[in-house]
Amino acid sequence: MMDSAQTKYTEIFPSLQTQIRFFVLLLSFCIEFSFSHCHLQKDSGPTSAPVAESPEMEPQKTNHLEWIKIKETVWMHRSYGESGGQVYPANGLVILTNKGAVVIDTPWTESQTEELFLDIQSRFQKEILYLIVTHAHNDRMSGVPSFQNRNIPVYSTGLTAKLAKERGFGNPNPILDIQTRLAAGNQWIEVFYPGHGHSVDNIVVWLPETHILFGGCLVKALDAKDLGYIKEANLGEWENSVKKVLARYPDAEVVVPGHGDWGKLDLLRHTIRLLVSTNH
Ligand SMILES: [Zn+2]
Repeated sequence: MMDSAQTKYTEIFPSLQTQIRFFVLLLSFCIEFSFSHCHLQKDSGPTSAPVAESPEMEPQKTNHLEWIKIKETVWMHRSYGESGGQVYPANGLVILTNKGAVVIDTPWTESQTEELFLDIQSRFQKEILYLIVTHAHNDRMSGVPSFQNRNIPVYSTGLTAKLAKERGFGNPNPILDIQTRLAAGNQWIEVFYPGHGHSVDNIVVWLPETHILFGGCLVKALDAKDLGYIKEANLGEWENSVKKVLARYPDAEVVVPGHGDWGKLDLLRHTIRLLVSTNH
């Protein structure tokens, strides 16, 4: 039993564990605060700097590529781009098959795309079969020239190919309008265009073997406080488009957003909530 002096001492000087907890709490509060501040700044008015995904923006290399394992055969690549002094992360996927790897969206910069090539070789010992790009913004397509220099096929919809050409993002092969299910060794990759949302051309990617849905920028992460870059968004249609995705893939186990952490189907519902509060 603790005597009264010891009790008093414990009250005044909390245990080391409690102090650590307090420190972690304080740290996460600070991170959360700065993150929401940066999001607020993104949409803070006409004088604010171009936002993270503005196709006119020239992002700089600010960090190394990161790898996050979702399942044994599906990894998320996370790259970083800078805009107006802020650094933003962006997600893409790498799917490992018995015939090679498929990449969904390039890293945000060409140098991080070079890292992607080296990492896929050293980590997974796979050749890249092809790249799919999910819309014509620089956080999805900055690395396309590097793929094309290596003669790796780059696939998109016709609309994304048209916009990419106008914006100098290379020349994807627009086969995804007619071919929405692609073979990749022992796996299948399905693409779906739900209509306008974050952009006019955003598509999602479905992996039927692993029940992973790559929502790209149509889908916001659970901790997103706003819709991010909306200068090219269709706020009236976006909600319907997300609902179409929800109706089509109700058995998705993992949902990967364009930015932030992956989660489950509640990311789609969170995106709808953000749209409803923005539109009303
Ligand atoms: Zn975008």
